[in-house]
Amino acid sequence: MTDGYTKFVNGGFGKKIAGTVGLPQPTVLRRYKVGQDLLEGPAAIAGVGEAPALEVVRKVLADSGVSVVEAQADSTYDSKLSAIVFDATAARTIDELQQLRATVGPAMKSLGKNGRIIVLSAVPAQETDVEAAATQQALEGITRSLGKEMRAGGTANLLRIGEQASDDALAGPLRFFLSARSAYVSGQPVTIDAGDVPTVEDVHVPLAGEVAVITGAARGIGAEIAKVFARAGAKVIAVDIPAAGDSLAKVANSIGATALQLDITSPDAGERIAKAVAQHADKLDIIVHNAGITRDKLFVNTDEARWGSVLDVNLQSQFRMNKVLLDPSVKGGLKDGGRIVSVASISGIGGNRGQSNYAASKAGVIGMVRQLSQELADRKITVNAVAPGFIETEMTAKIPMGTREVGRRLNSLLQGGQPVDVGEAIAFFAEPSSAAVTGQVLRVCGQSQLGA
Ligand code: NAD
Repeated sequence: MTDGYTKFVNGGFGKKIAGTVGLPQPTVLRRYKVGQDLLEGPAAIAGVGEAPALEVVRKVLADSGVSVVEAQADSTYDSKLSAIVFDATAARTIDELQQLRATVGPAMKSLGKNGRIIVLSAVPAQETDVEAAATQQALEGITRSLGKEMRAGGTANLLRIGEQASDDALAGPLRFFLSARSAYVSGQPVTIDAGDVPTVEDVHVPLAGEVAVITGAARGIGAEIAKVFARAGAKVIAVDIPAAGDSLAKVANSIGATALQLDITSPDAGERIAKAVAQHADKLDIIVHNAGITRDKLFVNTDEARWGSVLDVNLQSQFRMNKVLLDPSVKGGLKDGGRIVSVASISGIGGNRGQSNYAASKAGVIGMVRQLSQELADRKITVNAVAPGFIETEMTAKIPMGTREVGRRLNSLLQGGQPVDVGEAIAFFAEPSSAAVTGQVLRVCGQSQLGA
């Protein structure tokens, strides 16, 4: 649901007024529909030196029916572009960054609505040469700035390709960041490295036959994650507290999911989830830790109960459940090669006034994800987090109007995100083609200035 202001400035009269007095003009973002084309128009591609990653880029674009323009410095374009992909993985010197400026700059002028810029880089920390490391790190600064300069719903993101990444590892992440599924993700770096990436049978049902548990699925973001997973072909087990039983049943029935009434803070939550999974399959493919609460107060006024409940629901319960579900001997536990995706928050990155307990829990989730991803690498289980910014839900509808408007507009896309945007990012991490993506925290925040 688009907010009232965005609707107004996209109508004839509102558009005129906003243009005349210089008000922000958010674009209605292109969002994914089953069977939708990857892009609406051609993509310009270019790179530094041999640009080794462009081979996969050409293949992904060709498989998706996208026409490709091989861009040169100062090229001009006959028609509007839908995307620009620049492979800077081979850039080793600061001078070579000029090639990006000279190619992407002119192409950007021809980028249409909801355009995409994707910069491909190496991993700076894996460079042994100082200038190469500086050059590769510079790409993050460039990409984040381009995100802030994009117009009309455009996004710019950075995909870092590690030394251990196979040729196929880039395809899935590239498709996600080019597609309408990443509508509200901009200015973000994601690293792709070791991992066995299978061939994708059908990009429109990437989770076909997989069993996924989603907590907090009775409403808001969790309900939307469940819908996105069902659309992607997953068998969903939707978890929420007994008090939310009616709405949980409604969500579950609408997508053919199984409803599991369960308070995730109960000591046997992990065992109860495993038992529910075992009724459908031997092992669980994906667990999405989405359930979360806020109990906001200034730090000095935060009592033991407010502190404890937020840390328990948002963080400690995940530890307890993971412990059980990661035990290889547990029937219905997570399989090797499975996925854990946690919902964090930009509050856990930048902190927030009145949210020391919540920010602690969400920063804790990020710490857990990073460490666990390393511990589980041998079992080929990936562990990632999505950090939403301002998302239009019942939670954010309760924020006083002034603060709400600030949260909604203070980002590069000038609007709040939709719950589906978070769902799409979580599904991206859960997909088999994301096997080489682990330990990542992806902000779904429209490149919000909050949490910076
Ligand atoms: P919401 O309050 O609308 O939904 C949360 C769901 O979790 C509810 O259905 C609730 O019943 C369930 N839940 C709470 N405690 C539970 C428990 N003990 N056991 C089982 N289920 C429980 O919130 P939302 O906006 O949809 O948020 C979902 C997640 O996204 C949360 O982790 C939240 O912190 C995070 N988040 C939201 C935003 C936003 O803008 N809405 C921003 C950043 C992060």
